[in-house]
Amino acid sequence: MQNLKKWKELEDAGNILDKGNNEENDVSGWRSFRPIHIREKCIDCMICWSVCPDNAVISGDGKFIKFDYTKCKGCLICLNECPVNAIRSEKEK
Ligand code: SF4
Ligand code: SF4
Repeated sequence: MQNLKKWKELEDAGNILDKGNNEENDVSGWRSFRPIHIREKCIDCMICWSVCPDNAVISGDGKFIKFDYTKCKGCLICLNECPVNAIRSEKEK
């Protein structure tokens, strides 16, 4: 039998040792589509901000400001959850 390590001797794995990892990553290359905000339709309900899994919706004074396209992976959850269709999608070039 091979000389295998016992489980208590294995190195830790799957640990996130640094906080805010995604803050430092540009994930824009992951997108097939990008969300586009339509200011005229937006009622600043901030549902898009609350559902975005990547902290890619920038808000200020309780209002939608812009998408942070370096953090946005293009999942389009924001588009699907916006109650007034104030977000459309555009294919990445
Ligand atoms: S969910 Fe739609 S209406 Fe609400 S803040 Fe976002 S874009 Fe505006
Ligand atoms: S497409 Fe996805 S990642 Fe990008 S802003 Fe909308 S919810 Fe966030």
